[in-house]
Parts: sequence; structure tokens; C-alpha cells
Amino acid sequence: MDVASLTIEQVRAGLLGRRFSAAELAAEALRFAEAQNPKTNAYLRFSPERALAAAKRVDEAIARGEDPGPLAGVPVAVKDVILTEGLTTTCGSGLLEHYVPPYDATAIARLEQAGGIIVGKTNCDEFAMGSSNENSAFGPVRNPVAPDRVPGGSSGGSAAAVAQGTAVVALGSDTGGSVRQPASFCGVVGVTPTYGRVSRYGLTAFASSLDHIGPLARNVRDAAVLLGVIAGRDPADSTSADAPVPDYTKALDGQVKGVRLGLPREYLKDLTSETGDLLARGVGVLKKLGCEVRDISLPSTEYAIATYYIIATAEASSNLARFDGVRYTMRSASSDTLSDMYRNTRGTGFGAECKRRIMLGTYVLSAGYYDAYYLQAQKVRGLIAQDFARVFELVDAVIAPVSPFPAFRLGEKVDDPLAMYLSDIYTITGSLAGIPCMSVPCGKTGAGLPVGMQILARHFDEPTMLQLADAFEKAGGSA
Ligand code: GLN
Repeated sequence: MDVASLTIEQVRAGLLGRRFSAAELAAEALRFAEAQNPKTNAYLRFSPERALAAAKRVDEAIARGEDPGPLAGVPVAVKDVILTEGLTTTCGSGLLEHYVPPYDATAIARLEQAGGIIVGKTNCDEFAMGSSNENSAFGPVRNPVAPDRVPGGSSGGSAAAVAQGTAVVALGSDTGGSVRQPASFCGVVGVTPTYGRVSRYGLTAFASSLDHIGPLARNVRDAAVLLGVIAGRDPADSTSADAPVPDYTKALDGQVKGVRLGLPREYLKDLTSETGDLLARGVGVLKKLGCEVRDISLPSTEYAIATYYIIATAEASSNLARFDGVRYTMRSASSDTLSDMYRNTRGTGFGAECKRRIMLGTYVLSAGYYDAYYLQAQKVRGLIAQDFARVFELVDAVIAPVSPFPAFRLGEKVDDPLAMYLSDIYTITGSLAGIPCMSVPCGKTGAGLPVGMQILARHFDEPTMLQLADAFEKAGGSA
């Protein structure tokens, strides 16, 4: 079996046709992932015991003649901000190097119930803050397509694992683009569901009103299957939606004739020519499939970066207060008083980007500046959401770039946080509006670097979004 190219359907056929057992596949996937990891540093740790125990349960269910579940035997990589009971979860932070969670995130419990096999935990920017994976306390991840380049961030390890073939699918988290942008940089599919579609219980909070768990996969169908497994109401997360979960694979019928697409003019003006050319070619493929394409405007786009970096840092400054040396984290030993202990633990434990955001977030929430920054940003967030609501009266989906440029070189932007923030320009609008959005591969530049196309849809209209991406992929748009 070639683990590097398996799809969920192939795993299922192999298991039910008794060509291999789940235990054999898990052992082979673990062996392959461990052998490949030095090339990318995508995984922070492997979970052989948990994987083999889960595989055994799948094999036993098959032997009893039961349906082993939609993810039966499928090797899954999990971003290290998602809690796994008994399995160290660091959030890419030195503070949590030895933190072992006492419970599973809901998404983890659901994927294992569906027969999924957790291969290991993947590297990421510290507390998911970053666009290049260079903010991890455990070293950067290399892009498997071009090892001198970043895989994107913050779910860089998950995207690299899927691109490298060491997992069939992966879970990432997206607050302002962290599933879509690494998917685009590594040439895989990445889905950010509607806010509330997937429970955040057990996802370490960065900016709670923006955080999502989302799937990464090598094809649209696999992403749709994984989304169907993890989606749905969860009493443990009061922001999870009660809306019924459709069978997302049913939407993958290729019937996109007459679907109305909008191309936002504000997104097209600053593109590098190669990214712009690939996107234009992608739009051409969708037109050939019978989609109607029209020019649209999302006028509040120019305020999106400022809005996001006020709201996200404000929420982060509050969420990260819990990592204080008393609970969860390592504790600085060299402190005489309680306040010294807090200061020393947080001062030595957090990396530079987290500190920058805690300070910025504390500032915008402070009594004197709350109205000028935080409150204002909340109002602008409303305008950005209204832009989309207006546009979705005219079109069924929006097509946009994911990133202004393809994967950049390691080290290229680390010293310029503002340049790094600007690279999120096309992904954060969808996050602020809470709508579903995804990246689907849309070809490669002359230098062989993957470029993704973004599809955004109405709240809870993942079916239309996935339908378009699947039709696009089948029509050869991703090649
Ligand atoms: N790059 C963005 C940031 O640094 C998005 C991160 C994310 O989605 N987790 O905030």
C-alpha cells in the first residue's frame, strides 16, 4: 500500500476488501511519518499507542461485521492546539511543553468514534499566532514542496503532513486564515467552516469569536467527509450551532451550471502577476463549467487587517491570561513573590509574537482606549459582515485569492511583523464575517509553488462551497 497517496475511500475499500487491516495501515503510516519528519518538522510528537489501540477497535468492528465508521482506519494528523487526553498538547509554546490534557476536544472524540486514527500532533505557530509557522517554540516547519520555504501558518504542520502524505487528512485551526493559507502554500485543500459549525470545546482559545477547527485534505471529498464527522451541536460549546449537519458528500455532484459567482474587485488589485494569472485561469475553469461570474465590491475590505488585529489581540490578551505558572504551564523557579512568579513565568515562557499581541490587546481594551479601538473595531466588523450579506443577495459564492503571494522563504518576513500581518489580507474578511470559506489548489507558479483559490459562501452553505471546489478539482482546475 502507498500510504502517501491514499484517499478515505481507498482506505475503506482496502479494509472492507481485507487487503490490509487497520492495524497494518496504522503501523505503516506511523513508520512512514516518523521517517519523513526530519525533512519538515511537521510533527511535534507521534502517538503510536493511541493509534494502534484505535486501529484495533476498527479491526474488531469489521470482524464483527459492523460498519466501522466513515473515517475507519484513516490516519489523521492533529494540530497541537487541539486537546488530546493523555497526549501532550503544547500549542507550539515553551510554556506548555509538558502539558498533558485531562480530556479530549469534541472534534477529537468524534473523529475517533468515526474510526479515525490519530498519528500524531503537528507543529504550529505559538498559540496559533502567525502566518509562517516560524513562531513555534519547537522550530519552524519546512514546506514539503519547497524546503527552503515556509508551509504557511499557523496550521503549517498539519498542511505539511497532508502534502507530504504522512496523514490522509488533518485538523487545523483557523482564526484569520490559518487553515486556508497553509493549505494554499502546500497545495492541499483547507476548509474553514461557518463559525459555530464545529465545536470549539478543547480547542485552545486564541480569539474565541473567530476561532474555528477545520479540515485539511488532499482532495475535496476527503475534506467533506472529515467535516461531516466533526460538525454539529455540542452542549459543551454554547456557540456551536444547532443546525442539522447535511451529508456533505451528497453535494459533490458536479451540478454547478448557473451558480452565480462574485469576484471582489478590492481583492484583485495587489496580486503578484503569477497569483493573479492562476486565479484568472481558475475563474475560466469555473466559467467553462457553466458558472456565471460577475464583478462585485466588498468596500470595507481596506479596514479588515486593522479590525482583525484589534479584535484578535484583545481576545488573545484575555484568553492567554490563564497561562500564569499556577495552572497548566511550567513555572519559573527563580521568584520570591507571587507577582514575580507570574512575571518571570510569562516573561520567559511566551515568545515575542505572543507578548506583542498581549500588549496590543491589553492596550486596546484599556479604559482610556476601549471606545477608540475595540468598540470601533467591533462596529467595522459589522460593516464587513454587511458587505458579504449584501453581496450574497446577488451571488451564491465569492471567488478570491487566498494569499497575495505563494510560499515565501524561511526568514524572509520574521523581522517585519507588519508585513506578516498584511499577508492575511484576503483571509481575515471571511473570518470576521463568520462565513464558510476554503482554499482549493489552483495550479502552480513557474517555480513550482502551489497557489490556492478561495471560495466563500453564505453562513452554513458549506454544500455550495464544497460542490464548487469539487467540480473545479474534477475539471482539472487544481493541476
Ligand atoms: N495569521 C493570522 C494571525 O497571525 C491568523 C492566525 C490564525 O488563523 N490562527 O493572527
